[in-house]
This record gives sequence, C-alpha cells and structure tokens, in this order.
Amino acid sequence: MSLKSSWYPVRQLLRSGIDLCFPPLCPGCEKVASPVTRTGRVAEPIPLCLQCQQDLAPSKPHRCPRCSAPVGPHAQTDSGCPYCRQDRYRFDRVLSLGVYEEKLRGAILAGKKSEGQPLITALTEILWQREREQIQTFDPEVIIAVPRHWSKELQHLDYAPHSMARVLGKRMNIPVCTNWLKRSARRKDQVKLKATERRINLKGAFRTKIPAGRTPSRVLLVDDVLTTGATANESAATLKKADVQQVLVAVLARGLGT
Ligand SMILES: [Zn+2]
Ligand SMILES: [Zn+2]
Repeated sequence: MSLKSSWYPVRQLLRSGIDLCFPPLCPGCEKVASPVTRTGRVAEPIPLCLQCQQDLAPSKPHRCPRCSAPVGPHAQTDSGCPYCRQDRYRFDRVLSLGVYEEKLRGAILAGKKSEGQPLITALTEILWQREREQIQTFDPEVIIAVPRHWSKELQHLDYAPHSMARVLGKRMNIPVCTNWLKRSARRKDQVKLKATERRINLKGAFRTKIPAGRTPSRVLLVDDVLTTGATANESAATLKKADVQQVLVAVLARGLGT
C-alpha cells in the first residue's frame, strides 16, 4: 500500500468528523444540504439541498433537441421547434438544465457575483447528472468555454463558463482547452441588442488558437445561458472553420426572450 493510499481512511475519517461538526451548507438557500441526490443515490452528492434542486431545476423532460427550448410531449422537433426553426445554427445541438426564468435565472445571476462560484458549480453538477448519458454519447475530446474579451478578465476573475468547464472536465476526465478559442475583438454588450444585431455584432469576433495537429473532431462548448444562440453560434462557426467537426453546446439555462 502506498503512503498516499494508506492515508485515505484517515482523510475520510477526518472529513466525516468535519462534516459532522460543520455540515456543508447548500449554496442555494444556505441551509444544511442533504448528501443525497435527486434520484436518491448517495454516490455523487450534489452540493444543493433537494428543495433547491427542485426549485432551481424542475424536470422538464420534453425539450427541442436542437435548441433545448421546452416543447409539448407530442411536438415534431426533427427540424427544430418554434423557437429555433428560423435560425441557422453552426452548433449541432444544445443541452440545458432549464429555462432562464424564475429561480434558475436568479441563481445564475447570483452565481455570477463574487463568491457565487459554489452555486455555478452545484448547478453544473446537476446538469452533468441529468445529461451525462447524452454528453458521453457525444464523446467530446475537449471542453471549451465560450470566451470573453481579455479586458473583462481583468475586471472579474470568476467567469461562470470557466467554472462549468472545470466541473465537466473533471467529471469526464478530458482536457479543458479554453485558450483554443479567443475573443479577439471587443464588441457592444450583447444584452442590449436584438437577435439579428447580436449576430452582426459578433461576426468575426473570435479566433482559434489550436496547436498544430491537435484539432479535435468533437468539442463540448459551455456557456451559462443561451438565448438567441448568437455567441454559441459564432464560437461554433469559428471552431468549424478550424476543422472541428461537431460542437455540442451545454448551458445552465435556455433563455426564451430576444
Ligand atoms: Zn438549498
Ligand atoms: Zn428548438
């Protein structure tokens, strides 16, 4: 037995003792979190209490496979749904936890503030547990977070898509290669623009920096929210121009506004 593994039971005992004295608080409501997942399994605890899991990410099994908007149980979604049928996307499909509204919207906004990272991490863990099968079937080689301009990195150290990429990279045991996609130009804030203006605003704003000979075939692209899809679309278009074959987008929430 190596020294490292011989310490394992001691570490576990210490951790149990610490958890008993200072039980982990749910980052959603700051009450003591249950170590049991939504499905009742204890194997991979989500650091959100069951109530917060239900409030923040209620199950909505019927989604458009193309854009992840909620659809009726009998909707025909072969060519998309009413939210995306008119849009031409360069990414292949979208996975999300839910709609960007109510408590999920509030949690994402809170997660973007300083010290909000545990909330983003917890939401990403739920996304992973819910969509694990789909992500593993897609079999991405690398994870890339939608990039922001370097000047924004100086203003805010925490960036939700980076936290998401770290969680998913660890769960899948694949590299997070956020530096392979750069935002080369600073453009107007997307939030203030309409759908068509958003696409025009971002045209040519990204560039790839993938090391020679390492272009992946399948990329998992992560962002916190997808609304018009303009940012994910331009990111996917830039990656595909560099010979990436397929891009799966994973977001915490799907915004249905403009
Ligand atoms: Zn809670
Ligand atoms: Zn759709």
